[in-house]
Amino acid sequence: MVVLSTAFCPPIEYFAVLAGYSSVFIDSGENYQKQSWRNRCRILTGSGPQDLCVPVVHSSSRAITEIQVEYTTPWVVKFERAVASAYDSSPFFEFYRDEFFAILDSHPATLWELNRQITEWICRKIGVAGGAVEATASDPVRGSAAHPSQPRGWAPRSEGNRGPRKSADFWGAHEGGTPLGGSTSTAPLDLRDAIHPKRPNTILADMGLGRPYWQVFRERFGFTPGLSVLDLLFNEGPDSILWLQRPKKVLLHACCAPCSGAVLERLLQEGYQPVVFWSNSNITPKEEYDHRENELLRYAKKLGVQVVEDDYDHAAWRDCVKGLESEPERGARCLECFKARLLRAAEYASRNGFPILATTLASSRWKSLEQVDEAGSWACSRVEGVQWWPRNWRKGGLQERRAQIIKEQDFYNQTFCGCEFSRTREEL
Ligand code: SF4
Repeated sequence: MVVLSTAFCPPIEYFAVLAGYSSVFIDSGENYQKQSWRNRCRILTGSGPQDLCVPVVHSSSRAITEIQVEYTTPWVVKFERAVASAYDSSPFFEFYRDEFFAILDSHPATLWELNRQITEWICRKIGVAGGAVEATASDPVRGSAAHPSQPRGWAPRSEGNRGPRKSADFWGAHEGGTPLGGSTSTAPLDLRDAIHPKRPNTILADMGLGRPYWQVFRERFGFTPGLSVLDLLFNEGPDSILWLQRPKKVLLHACCAPCSGAVLERLLQEGYQPVVFWSNSNITPKEEYDHRENELLRYAKKLGVQVVEDDYDHAAWRDCVKGLESEPERGARCLECFKARLLRAAEYASRNGFPILATTLASSRWKSLEQVDEAGSWACSRVEGVQWWPRNWRKGGLQERRAQIIKEQDFYNQTFCGCEFSRTREEL
């Protein structure tokens, strides 16, 4: 379960959450916060990103559902002019402008109602199916009780609350999977403050999303992230949903069974369809390589996950790290080692229609997250159609689960990283 604040023409990650989580609650019980997405959005104009604000009436009540929109100034006209000027030449703006502007022109009295109408409209246009959104009713500001297990200010409708409004099937029950890119725990995920104009977040990256889409001013600025979902909608139209839903197929480069255990388990829990790619020509001697591979095959078989085995060519790997033999672990040799292995994986992913590549390499604290990310991004940039997934596989309880699975599965205890240079004199 995820909690969001209300937002005006919300940012893209907000809609990724609506599209990707099985139950989402938009908090009607919170207080209004200035300088948040609650009354502002960011569009891309010919001069760069621009924030557009909805003026609100200042009053003694800060309850979000009671904040009145200020219509004595001509902000609606100015807003529509700015949006039209930014998106007139986008492929889909002309198809949406009348309906979108009609909502603004109808002057919904409260910020809550304005945001609700716009959010609902965008969900319909994008095709966030089944109503992933439920407005909440538990409102401590007005005295109704929240479920004791829920954070103050919101609770699911199914627990006896009467939502402030429901419309058609759009607000019906959503038959979704478990949360994406986050914990599978039943504890609510509170994103009310995480999605904020001044605080960059990793929500899209954590969900395996965030790849560039077509933008009107791409030639002037390159791809500009962090915008309102309007930018996506006007540029990609009905295909916007493809940018908001995580692909199911993931190619997971695996370095060994101990590092893969928790990652594979979590991917399956989150509804992904991982295929493991075993490409580790760094490991020597061959008996060690075979031993590690067999441990991984044993575990993958238990989970019913397919393993693709790359060719073993330690001589070719030696060529990749030539001149770096005496580098320490986490040094320049390891970066080249990661690049060599992840390039093999990226090439396989590209040839076989895997849109996302991840690796278990950085799930061990002995490896440098930065080096693994650099190598993964580099490898994916060299092939067509594969996005690097820079998720931190040590977070969200995965480090602890990793240790548990190693014990549970009685995995072979590796004493060195893999190559001859990572072995001590005694081991050689
Ligand atoms: S120490 Fe490990 S990561 Fe570094 S080069 Fe050797 S096998 Fe690769």
